[in-house]
Amino acid sequence: MTDMDLKTAVRDYARQQGADLVGFVSTEHLNAVTPTDHKPERLWPEAKTAVSIGKRLLMGAVAVGAGDMVQNARWVAWRTNEFLNRRAMEVGHFIEAHGARALPLSNGTMIEPTWRNLGIFGELSHRHIAAEAGLGAIGVPTFIVTPQFGPRVYFITILTDAELEPDPKLDFDPCGAECDECIRACPSHAIQRGRKTIKKTLCIPNAMPHGVAPLRRYIESIFNAEDPAARQERIDDFDFARLHRALVQGVGTIAGCFHCLAACPVGRSSPPGQ
Ligand code: SF4
Ligand code: SF4
Repeated sequence: MTDMDLKTAVRDYARQQGADLVGFVSTEHLNAVTPTDHKPERLWPEAKTAVSIGKRLLMGAVAVGAGDMVQNARWVAWRTNEFLNRRAMEVGHFIEAHGARALPLSNGTMIEPTWRNLGIFGELSHRHIAAEAGLGAIGVPTFIVTPQFGPRVYFITILTDAELEPDPKLDFDPCGAECDECIRACPSHAIQRGRKTIKKTLCIPNAMPHGVAPLRRYIESIFNAEDPAARQERIDDFDFARLHRALVQGVGTIAGCFHCLAACPVGRSSPPGQ
């Protein structure tokens, strides 16, 4: 199979498996444009291509995610994440069945040992890779905005040592100079025009309300309780049940806040699957 045939086969297979968006970018390009050390060459120097696949969020979840049903929306968000993790594994096996090697990268969150960014970091930025693979553009809040789904889409990456032709970057400027819908919608004022990233310390407590930092604080609160009665009170607290749900179902460990996603006007009217 030629490299072009393999690229077409991988794209078709990923779509058959339910991916809504599929793009390709060379690792040489990613190594050159990535400003941090979170580059493909750090993870796997022999990788030649990054395959980016995206799955849209269900609009019903986004619609209720800014209200009382936020827990259910968080559950949908995590299931979307799981969906992508599975597709990445399947695409990886598909690539290896056709003679190249593949490394799917996790779409959960890694843990940063120094607790920078409240302990959260990614091996690579899936959304920046998706943008370089021609699937969208990085918007004002540094999330990716796609023509089809706006920012309401998650991505995952599969590295391979097959040299597959990169897709062209999109000529797409979703935010322009004026739009401030997501900025105004953010309850924590975490988004500012002109910043290279959102203010993570303001966003993460909303976006990951049951994540690793709240779990750590909860455990510390038990250690620090003054007496057995106070310890028991902490265990009877609803925090215990919430964090248990997070541990077994992922709810609220990522994607706990939907205000900015719901506010973005781009791609709101796209029919499913487009
Ligand atoms: S996820 Fe929530 S807190 Fe974070 S930038 Fe969006 S609206 Fe603001
Ligand atoms: S709401 Fe406006 S500024 Fe924010 S990401 Fe969408 S298009 Fe860009």
